Amino acid sequence: MKSDSYDIIIIGGGIMGSATAYYLMHADNRLNVLVIERDPTYAKASTTLSMTNARIQFSLKQNVQISQYAFDILDTFEEDMTVDGQNPVISYRREGNLFLFDENGQDAARKAFNLQKSLDCPIEWWPTDRIRERFPLYDTNGYAGATFGPFDGHFDAYAVLMAYKKKARALGAQYLDGEATEIENIKGRVERVKLASGDVFTAGAIVNCAGAWASQIAATAGIDLPVDPVKRQIFTLDTTVKPDGPLPLTVLPSGLYFRTETGGHILLGKSMAEDPVGFDFSWDDKRFTETLWFELAEFVPAFDTLKLIRGWAGLYAVNTLDSNAILGNWPEIQGLYLANGFSGHGLQQAPAVGRYLSELITGKNPVLDLSAFHPDRILENRPLSEGGLV
Ligand SMILES: Cc1cc2nc3c(=O)[nH]c(=O)nc-3n(C[C@H](O)[C@H](O)[C@H](O)COP(=O)(O)OP(=O)(O)OC[C@H]3O[C@@H](n4cnc5c(N)ncnc54)[C@H](O)[C@@H]3O)c2cc1C
Repeated sequence: MKSDSYDIIIIGGGIMGSATAYYLMHADNRLNVLVIERDPTYAKASTTLSMTNARIQFSLKQNVQISQYAFDILDTFEEDMTVDGQNPVISYRREGNLFLFDENGQDAARKAFNLQKSLDCPIEWWPTDRIRERFPLYDTNGYAGATFGPFDGHFDAYAVLMAYKKKARALGAQYLDGEATEIENIKGRVERVKLASGDVFTAGAIVNCAGAWASQIAATAGIDLPVDPVKRQIFTLDTTVKPDGPLPLTVLPSGLYFRTETGGHILLGKSMAEDPVGFDFSWDDKRFTETLWFELAEFVPAFDTLKLIRGWAGLYAVNTLDSNAILGNWPEIQGLYLANGFSGHGLQQAPAVGRYLSELITGKNPVLDLSAFHPDRILENRPLSEGGLV
């Protein structure tokens, strides 16, 4: 049995854990940081099962600012993450995001648009004739317009994760293949993490970056964290009619979303009220053939003939209070930090979150104030409002 001691232990080495490890080591490479990850293949991690989209189209100021920060980071990410002269390739494609609205959604869209404008975001207000002119395959009947973020886009999430991990290790962070089974809470202070192997490690700070499993490990410290694992499904389609160039991530007011993928395929998904809570990774072709196909073909009639190539399921870590991040020190327990509950938009938040947590833990002034996401609001039942959830 090992019983080593660290400055900081991070539970979960997905995008949040690895970005946090990188920013900690970047701030001070004398820190002794351990990341515990039970599945180094990341087969079930949300990071590797996501739609990999980044957008400034949110309605909460801090969420917009977090994405602005991500855009800046991603622009120079390949150079910044160089290790031993090798750069990662993250295939960052700024192909745009198009959010349609109908009459009912017009006021909310205008409010979010005005906020994004006030924060100097590149965002455009499109009437329906502009949508048809740019994307002639789309049938805009029943819609009132769209907002278009020309610099929103997607990237290779696995490559970004591996780059953070590699750079964090190059700076001195240690990764351990193992499962954390308990965060020991002794009279309101955490110092020890127990592993399935029997090892026990101590640390000055412990960070919960366990994604959809966050509430399980939090429960061992006595915390009732309102984060549920919710199954979401994505489908890959080969359409008979190919669009003339890339389609942006297009989001309908119903929540249906799709975009082109390399190889001429379409990726499509929709969060639905009946999506089950639990650790279920099976996908169901009927979800597409019996429901989503009709919705897609109504908006893009040329896509009524297509082949469903494959699908997959991943987990949103849904914060059941308000579907926003839970960030910072848990108020009732000294030494325990949370980066949880990202509810389907966490990938793009990893750079800002990793940096913010590293600043909190090392006692620096945050570059971006994310205190709105403090866990206090969970205990005080003060939900944040974000209208741009997908
Ligand atoms: C279908 C889908 C589409 C999405 N699309 C987008 C998108 O377009 N844009 C976007 O920004 N976000 C998107 N997301 C959300 C995004 O993927 C997540 O918010 C983000 O990846 C969360 O990162 P994480 O590191 O917290 O979690 P994860 O990537 O799940 O990593 C958590 C890690 O913790 C490990 N772990 C858990 N418990 C333990 C333990 N006890 N001991 C050791 N290790 C443990 C797990 O093995 C896992 O590797 C999507 C998610 C899904 C499912």
